[in-house]
Amino acid sequence: MSHSQKFKSILLFGPPGAGKGTQGKILDAIPGFFHMSVGDVFRSIDADSDEGQEIRKYTSVGQLVPDSVTIQIWNNALNDFIASSKYNPDEDILLLDGMPRNVAQTELIADHVEVAKIINLDCSDEDEMVKRIQQRAIKENRSDDADENIIRQRFEVYRQQTRPVLDQYSADTIAIAQAVGTPAEVLGRILEIAIPIQNEHVLQNN
Ligand code: ADP
Repeated sequence: MSHSQKFKSILLFGPPGAGKGTQGKILDAIPGFFHMSVGDVFRSIDADSDEGQEIRKYTSVGQLVPDSVTIQIWNNALNDFIASSKYNPDEDILLLDGMPRNVAQTELIADHVEVAKIINLDCSDEDEMVKRIQQRAIKENRSDDADENIIRQRFEVYRQQTRPVLDQYSADTIAIAQAVGTPAEVLGRILEIAIPIQNEHVLQNN
């Protein structure tokens, strides 16, 4: 990574269907926030390329892409976003969606990322999330969203590999936002947590 400082970040955290992508896209439109979804980066890679085929071996069955591949692609994508001025680390809070997704990735990003807050989108109603994912499948044509077995597999991966990431951070770094409600309601809850972090970032850089 060429940038010498750590990237001030908020992790958008939560199970599949909790609304990380929906909220990330809305927040990305607000100056001072940059949303980066690892899933979106993976889907932007040509499915016919060797890399694209390697990625789809895992995403299509609801498994995590191996860490070495994931970290390299994440690193390159981040550098591209900086080079093309989409993301300005001195001005923007990085909203990380889908990273880290296991404990090993937590360690792999620790040198580059300053985790200012983790916003845990909390939803105890798994059926509600499955419903959201199935609706998204129709709109976004995502094969990993269409099959209920693959969706359930992703929940299993979340429970076993991703949720333990929370134990790597101190309790005061973690904030819970209720994920049930309209997108506008959930947005309000996230902003209450994110605005103070953004204000702090602006102060630090002025
Ligand atoms: P969702 O949050 O609904 O599971 P994403 O778009 O975030 O959807 O991710 C889609 C798929 O991309 C995941 O099921 C996984 O296979 C892969 N993926 C995303 N982020 C990571 C990551 N950090 N490490 C490994 N695989 C990942």
